[in-house]
Amino acid sequence: MPSALSYPQKALHKLGLVRDIDLALHLPLRYEDETHISRLRDARDGEQLQIEATVTHSQVTLGARRQLLVTVDDGSDCCTLRFFTFYPSMQKALTVGARLRIRGEVKGGLMGWTMMHPSFQSAGGELPTALTPIYPTVAGLPQTYLRKAVLSGLARADLSDTFAGAAEGEKERWAQWGLREALSFLHQPASDVALAALQDRSHPAWQRLKAEELLAQQLSQLQAKRGRAALQAPPLVAPVGAAADVGLAHRLLAALPFSLTTAQHRVSAEIARDLARPVPMHRLLQGDVGSGKTVVAALAAALCIDAGWQCALMAPTEILAQQHFTKLLAWLEPLGIRTAWLTGSQKAKERRAMLALIASGEAALVVGTHAVIQDKVQFKNLALAIIDEQHRFGVAQRLALRNKMNGVPNSDQDAVEAQREPHLLMMTATPIPRTLAMSYYADLEVSTLDELPPGRTPIITKLVHDARRDQVIERIRAQIAQGRQVYWVCPLIEESESLDLANATQTHADLTAALHDPGAPVMVGLLHSRMPVAEKREVMSLFTSGQMQVLVSTTVIEVGVDVPNASLMVVEHAERFGLSQLHQLRGRVGRGAAASACVLLYSTGDAPRLGETARERLKAMAETGDGFEIARRDLEIRGPGEFLGARQSGAALLRFADLSTDGALLEWARSLAPKLLDQHPELVQRHIDRWLGGKAEFLKA
Ligand code: ADP
Ligand code: MG
Repeated sequence: MPSALSYPQKALHKLGLVRDIDLALHLPLRYEDETHISRLRDARDGEQLQIEATVTHSQVTLGARRQLLVTVDDGSDCCTLRFFTFYPSMQKALTVGARLRIRGEVKGGLMGWTMMHPSFQSAGGELPTALTPIYPTVAGLPQTYLRKAVLSGLARADLSDTFAGAAEGEKERWAQWGLREALSFLHQPASDVALAALQDRSHPAWQRLKAEELLAQQLSQLQAKRGRAALQAPPLVAPVGAAADVGLAHRLLAALPFSLTTAQHRVSAEIARDLARPVPMHRLLQGDVGSGKTVVAALAAALCIDAGWQCALMAPTEILAQQHFTKLLAWLEPLGIRTAWLTGSQKAKERRAMLALIASGEAALVVGTHAVIQDKVQFKNLALAIIDEQHRFGVAQRLALRNKMNGVPNSDQDAVEAQREPHLLMMTATPIPRTLAMSYYADLEVSTLDELPPGRTPIITKLVHDARRDQVIERIRAQIAQGRQVYWVCPLIEESESLDLANATQTHADLTAALHDPGAPVMVGLLHSRMPVAEKREVMSLFTSGQMQVLVSTTVIEVGVDVPNASLMVVEHAERFGLSQLHQLRGRVGRGAAASACVLLYSTGDAPRLGETARERLKAMAETGDGFEIARRDLEIRGPGEFLGARQSGAALLRFADLSTDGALLEWARSLAPKLLDQHPELVQRHIDRWLGGKAEFLKA
């Protein structure tokens, strides 16, 4: 063989299926019942069917679309098979007279039964006795190959018990369904099992797997938490003798043009308590868009700086970082605090100057993008790292920031130094319900801002069909006439970035033309991800200063901006966005006192109406403006595997368990984890390795 791995093997690796246990844990998406042959006469419209029939007619039509039409007869009725893509080998197998076993969804209609792209093989041969599993797969990895690989992985994998025998009462609970029994069953369920219990994962075999998975997640987080408790961090308290009311935080509060909300007070106190302890803080600050997280971060920074240490704040994009910088500068510089700014696009000379300020400790606060964690950046005494929009950062980046505490990375010049870590405050605007967060994040303290600053007017959300675009443009004119500003967010076109750009450019041109008014010129700007940073900054500053009335943007990422005068947000092809993305976008307006609106333009394409989940998402947006309620609905619509996994940490953490329905199992795992960790460390290690493999290190960040 020319290369070490064959094509399907490479595809297996792409799916992360490397070890035997990975294969064994690759569970079916659904099952097909191929254990018996049905008759067409008994078929119901839309039913998944397996028949055996003889080809009576075969023809390639050359209409608008070339297709292969094959008629088959099973003795009870006829059915037309349609193929839009086909190969000569298929045509050969489907010649008149051939007897075939065919599987697919039958549709009734004027022309009788039809099946689109059914699968087929020659008739006869034994029927399977178990349901046929259908696995998640990727291109180049046929189900048959994957099935064999999974079964052989299952046969070889070590599936010995890691917890049932280890704690009181657990043995009985899991007696029937060991890991091996559960997996064997789920890969090859008997044909008489209730498909519904398999599909909704309520079957005891599924319960065992979910329990295993949640336990792994709790164990690894608890392990990380205990590891951290052994580390040191500088306690950030005011110097001895300093009166509380002259501290930097106090002076900052006094200088702010507003007073804190109750929620801001509460979470600031939670953070201050953590910072005063000699162990590293590991806290997530969650709060809806606009809930005022920045000032909470600034107060934490003030405590840190007052205690004589440096603080770093990192944001995922240059625009966001710039905005934080401007704000923090305005708040802190008048109080005598030196601030440094770091970004990838900086000129070498400016950058050198900044690096020197940071290394000498003159800059007490460092704000920037990923540039903050580069090797060249050396802090004099970093004690607090704040990460905004933490889910946008990879785990490796979070780890790198934590390592900045130790001056020269990996130097063992001072063994005590190596045991230190900065306090870590992560911020996110994609909250999950508090109780859920507290149980799930065993390794994280959670602070929640559950209140918006006063004086906000609720945002009115309207769903508008794309055909009524003209009315939307009218609305934009009206807003501009009142001196207000408008965002227009272009659709995400996932398959192609250049299409994205072409579309935004077109929209920008269309809007410029539509809003043209010789009497009162309107400036329409364009912002997209591939623009040079300097140009982005230019566009943003025109919009922020109010000179530009309309901002057309492709980049969802860049819109974490704060322009209180903006009162209308238009999202084009809103049906393509995720629920929390839409909510984030909407949060860009309604920041000032003016009545604000969000128009979700949707299109159904060629279909008569929107798909179900898209409809549910848009409906949720129209019905509620509360970020936690949105998060709850998001959880409902999508299931939390995706929710917590991909978004919170860059890789799916929960594949099987579903926090919205498996709360009881989560509680079980949460209470068992400490006992196991105390009494059976070797079992714990085996369990974590099995479930998280190489990923465990990452989960700790
Ligand atoms: P987010 O939580 O989305 O990061 P920001 O920190 O950007 O929110 O705050 C949104 C806006 O609300 C900012 O203009 C900020 O100055 C303002 N703000 C924050 N806290 C208060 C408050 N207690 N009272 C009034 N305005 C506030
Ligand atoms: Mg923010």
